[in-house]
Amino acid sequence: MGFFKRIRAGLKKTGDVLNTDIRDLFKSEGRLIDEEFLEEVRGILFRTDMGYDSTEALVDEIGKKLRGRVVQLEEVVEVLKAKLKELMQQPEAPVEFAQSGPTVVMVCGVNGAGKTTSIAKLASQFKGEGRRVLLGAGDTFRAAAVEQLTVWADRLGVGIITAPPKTHPATVGYQTVERALAEGADVAIVDTAGRLQTQSDLMAELTKIRGALNKALPGAPHEVLLVLDATTGQNGISQATKFAEAAGCTGIVLAKLDGTAKGGVVVSIRQQLGLPVKYVGLGEGHDDLAPFKPDEFVDALFADVLKAPA
Ligand code: GDP
Repeated sequence: MGFFKRIRAGLKKTGDVLNTDIRDLFKSEGRLIDEEFLEEVRGILFRTDMGYDSTEALVDEIGKKLRGRVVQLEEVVEVLKAKLKELMQQPEAPVEFAQSGPTVVMVCGVNGAGKTTSIAKLASQFKGEGRRVLLGAGDTFRAAAVEQLTVWADRLGVGIITAPPKTHPATVGYQTVERALAEGADVAIVDTAGRLQTQSDLMAELTKIRGALNKALPGAPHEVLLVLDATTGQNGISQATKFAEAAGCTGIVLAKLDGTAKGGVVVSIRQQLGLPVKYVGLGEGHDDLAPFKPDEFVDALFADVLKAPA
């Protein structure tokens, strides 16, 4: 299935809420675009978790283009889609592979966000592209995390570096890159701890892991991906900002987009973090990961709005 179909299926919950509510604004023949209408649209967009700034930008645009006119649903949707696409523009952003030697991808995120599953999905994707993948089980504070990643590695047929519990995650990262170099692996995906005693410990830890990877291979890590849980909506974003700073993140993997009615959070993430959304998670299987394409995301979000009866 292509991205559009998958994301459309994944975004069903968000789309249902958004599209039904917007359609409901147009029960009669068209509608006058006035302050009352704009206020109603504002409420609907806000409920999808697009965030304050994005919602205001969209409402302003509708006001600017259509205020004082009686219009049909289609016209409002067109304005919304065009503005959303503009807000979400980002550089074409698949993972940047190193010119030579292993590409080192460091993955961070809070516990439960979907970090382990996303690492497995990335490994599966890269392997499918013909790359030799090595995993580093750096979440050494949680035995279950190491176990879970080992199960994935076995299932996917990729190598994994593990270390005894409580080994410093930076050590595991270092060893993983060393082994990747020795074995001629194309990609090393290094897991990191998802929680420590305090937030500042966690941040210091991420900085250390980064440093260790760089020591093992100058230029590494080539990518630092932050896994966010789409179902936590706005709450996840402030936490994400701190992670992004501490770890020097280069992109986002947005997990669990299939399980949320708040898929609008992608818009907010783009706006507030300024990082590209590189992949979205659309299920629990190793194939349920898609590179993110903003235009198709917007089209998918509104795919059903004009179809269903009013
Ligand atoms: P971690 O603690 O960050 O490593 O999180 P896990 O990778 O263990 O994921 C936590 C839970 O979320 C697991 O039950 C996963 O199967 C589930 N999960 C992860 N990614 C997705 C996704 O994209 N969609 C859905 N529906 N579930 C996901």
